[in-house]
Amino acid sequence: MKGKAVKFIVLTIFPEMFDPFWEHGMIKRAIERKKIFASTINIRDFTKDKHRVTDDRPYGGGSGMVMKAEPLAGAIRAAQKKAPLAKTVLLTPQGRCFSQNIAHEMASSDGAILVCGRYEGVDERISHHLIDDEMSIGDYVLTGGELGAMIIIDAVTRLVPGTLGSEDSAENDSFSTGLLEHAHYTRPRSFEGNDVPDVLISGNHKEIEKWRLETSLIRTFLKRRDLLEKKSLSPQEIDILKKWCLDIEKIIHDQSLRGSDTSSGTQ
Ligand code: SAM
Repeated sequence: MKGKAVKFIVLTIFPEMFDPFWEHGMIKRAIERKKIFASTINIRDFTKDKHRVTDDRPYGGGSGMVMKAEPLAGAIRAAQKKAPLAKTVLLTPQGRCFSQNIAHEMASSDGAILVCGRYEGVDERISHHLIDDEMSIGDYVLTGGELGAMIIIDAVTRLVPGTLGSEDSAENDSFSTGLLEHAHYTRPRSFEGNDVPDVLISGNHKEIEKWRLETSLIRTFLKRRDLLEKKSLSPQEIDILKKWCLDIEKIIHDQSLRGSDTSSGTQ
């Protein structure tokens, strides 16, 4: 199926940061295949002064500088003309947290105009009047929005149909199913005394699928129990969890029959 390209326009004072980003791997391929349209706009091009200044001191005093409203407004309006259907998104640690679900939504949208802040952030009037959404890439503070914009573009692009080599390689990704993805192995079959699980070389696809689902559930339980609690589990997934419960109960039962051991129990 030939869909329309998802448009990304990045507004930044450092457009050159994106040159190598557009020119490698999957992003490069997606641009060549016209799955995404990607470009930058230099916010400085919308300054009117000789020194092309994009920041100024904060009203009320205090440390740091603030990105001026006028160049940002000019750059945003120019981008909105180029991509009238795309949402204008401000990168900010104060926004809603970017996630795989948001990446899926964006992959089937018209795209996004990604506004990268610097210094202490952008003049509040920009956020109020020209921004549709505010997005954070996590609870930490970066020096600028550029890396965040790249992260969003990367995560969204691999979900645009036809971008990855195999359509279903994104389907099973961590978070897409509500679980962490199963373990992966490749050649050699034995590495430093550690062998690939037999089931993966059995050729029995049903058993392989079952094993993958089990490892996916196990690692989600061990590493991200919060995901498991939120997910609505399938009957097969519930059966797997019940089987573990029984296995664990059996171990506890057998141990209690043996009597409690006050030594370290490591023999
Ligand atoms: N003073 C701001 C605050 O405390 O909320 C932080 C400003 S930060 C130093 C400069 C710029 O980096 C922000 O305007 C934003 O564009 C970007 N940025 C920093 N951390 C980010 C994050 N976690 N997610 C998205 N963008 C971020």
